[in-house]
Amino acid sequence: MKIAVLKEAAAGERRVSATPETVKKFVGLGAQVSVEAGAGTDATIADQAYADAGASVGARAAVLKDADIVLGVQGPDPANLAGAKAGAWVVAGLNPFGERARVDAYASAGFEALAMEFMPRITRAQSMDILSSQSNLSGYKAVLDAAAEYGRAFPMMMTAAGTVSAAKVFVMGVGVAGLQAIATARRLGAQVSATDVRAATKEQILSLGAKPIFVEAVKGIEGEGTGGYATEMSDEYKAAQAELVSSHIAKQDIVITTALIPGRPAPRLISDAQISTMKPGSVIVDLAVEAGGNVEGAVAGEIVVKHGVKIVGHKNVPSRLAADSSALFARNLFNFLSAFWDKEQGKPVLDEEIGNAIRLTQGGKVVNERLLG
Ligand code: NAD
Repeated sequence: MKIAVLKEAAAGERRVSATPETVKKFVGLGAQVSVEAGAGTDATIADQAYADAGASVGARAAVLKDADIVLGVQGPDPANLAGAKAGAWVVAGLNPFGERARVDAYASAGFEALAMEFMPRITRAQSMDILSSQSNLSGYKAVLDAAAEYGRAFPMMMTAAGTVSAAKVFVMGVGVAGLQAIATARRLGAQVSATDVRAATKEQILSLGAKPIFVEAVKGIEGEGTGGYATEMSDEYKAAQAELVSSHIAKQDIVITTALIPGRPAPRLISDAQISTMKPGSVIVDLAVEAGGNVEGAVAGEIVVKHGVKIVGHKNVPSRLAADSSALFARNLFNFLSAFWDKEQGKPVLDEEIGNAIRLTQGGKVVNERLLG
């Protein structure tokens, strides 16, 4: 059983899918691990550290030769996997909706592609959940990015020269990233409020010491769909939410948006007209910018200024904390593969629940019902 760890090819991707810690654990399971030279450099992991952990380190062709499993943070180009065994697993964040053509290419090249972001959100799979581990760090980093762009302080400070008032931070979308954004902004001393379409988040917001801002008047709304994810809301709800946001947002210094709906474009939460009511010098961070954006005018990979308000649209926020995000991503991959490790066969064998959820391709075909349905 040979596991290949590739250097990420996507522009701006600094993470790596294995660390010396996980290499050592895979070796302990009896696997042979081969790491492409330089794979960990951007995450501050030297080739020697992988070698010390028991991996062979070399050029891509040697790493891929006869590999049974290819690990990645993002999906590798199927055309660049020559040498891997027929039917080899490709295990990574494969962005199946956004990169549909690549999924087809994995099928025609005969690979079994396993999309880690389709991992079911069930208790036993929590330690394998890349969406949670990466979103948590994104929520933290979004607040630091906002603080870095904001020309004022976050905490209230009473000084001999006078008082500096606390920053008002509004978090929109209280999933994993939003919860961490609330906690981080609170730790920095900001006054924090937050909103979501899922009513269950109200208590979580309160428990973190922030103020919930919720649409109450619209009947018959149910923001929570399957798997605890948000559903797309009715037009009536959207209008009520826009009105509530309009009055609240004008008083905010920092807004962090994180709202996503799986398989659909991100919901538009803030319009240009609403931005124009904010104070100059305010900062908005749009964590959903690569999924279409929650904020009108946000540009992926740029910081734009509209009406004196900075709109931050960094791409791939977890990659901005590459050492920690790699460590957690690598553990998610190890926790997944080791949980299914069959000692006799010396390889992982998936069960139906998780196998069917994450397997995109098999036997030359696309097999995942979320992509076929
Ligand atoms: P996500 O990244 O899909 O979305 C971020 C947040 O945006 C969500 O809270 C969503 O409700 C919210 N949102 C969507 N549309 C919105 C709108 N129009 N206005 C305001 N907010 C909007 O969410 P996530 O962080 O992946 O979490 C999704 C769910 O999965 C949550 O219920 C979370 O508790 C659950 N979860 C479960 C596990 C587990 O049990 N293993 C692990 C992690 C998360």
